[in-house]
Amino acid sequence: MSIKIIPQKQLEQHASNSVIRQIPLLFYPSPKTIYAHRAKRLKTLATNNPFSDYLNFCATIAEQQANLVKQNPINVDLSEYLNNENPPLSLSNRPLSTNWQEYLNELLSSITATTEQITLVIEQLKKNSVQQLQDKALHLLNNEFAHVEGNEAIFIWAALSVYYSQLASQIKGKAIAESTDKSWLCPVCNSIPVASIIQLGSNNGLRYLHCSLCESQWYVPRIKCTCCDNMKDIQYFSLDNELSATKTECCDACHSYLKIFDQDKDPHIEIIADDIASLILDIKTEEEGFTKSGINPFIFAQ
Ligand SMILES: [Zn+2]
Ligand SMILES: [Zn+2]
Repeated sequence: MSIKIIPQKQLEQHASNSVIRQIPLLFYPSPKTIYAHRAKRLKTLATNNPFSDYLNFCATIAEQQANLVKQNPINVDLSEYLNNENPPLSLSNRPLSTNWQEYLNELLSSITATTEQITLVIEQLKKNSVQQLQDKALHLLNNEFAHVEGNEAIFIWAALSVYYSQLASQIKGKAIAESTDKSWLCPVCNSIPVASIIQLGSNNGLRYLHCSLCESQWYVPRIKCTCCDNMKDIQYFSLDNELSATKTECCDACHSYLKIFDQDKDPHIEIIADDIASLILDIKTEEEGFTKSGINPFIFAQ
């Protein structure tokens, strides 16, 4: 099953969709709250974590992302991009303008109290031309992560996310389900997920993948590989016990894994913050021979 976005007025024509119409298939993001909430959670997790310095650094960026949304909001009419063919914000559907670079410039100027290493990264990025930054952004959006230095990628992605999450929040389209596979890319922007989450209070335990770029969440059935759709021999690892709110879901068919977070077990979970805070679980899962199929916007491995 995959999820597609169509203009609201076309919804009635999709009668075949009625079976799962009861399930919310897609949640568009709320940029006005998501980054502030993330910053707060990162700071809380930093108080008792082996990666506390890094979590605090990420919190600083998330705070600035929240400020950018507040101080420089965008408003775009996206109706022409709902064309029934591609995810509305995918690059093939809507080429990247240079507007996002304004966010990057503001972000780079706002990070002051930081380490020597990060100061160097910021200085280096400031020397890039508009075209160089555009090239780097396109590499990242095309999942060519090895082409961009990991620390630079964090800042570029943070600015892109502020841009794309606001666009995503303004789409006036409805999600429908199609009976094809390939459910693991974001139906809004075509990016890779961070992890999946069982949302707080979703009484039948529905799970959603969370987009690493535009912050949308889309429905994917449980106990199924989110990368290759395999449903056999899915294994789960956790650090403390079986009831842990944070697990890795591992597939024996494609040897990939992705974390799954359960907000019913821990209502405070924020998917990107908790993914970083549980890096030890990634290390253990990779030792078992699995490779992560998602990305975290604050961790770009080379
Ligand atoms: Zn997305
Ligand atoms: Zn798989």
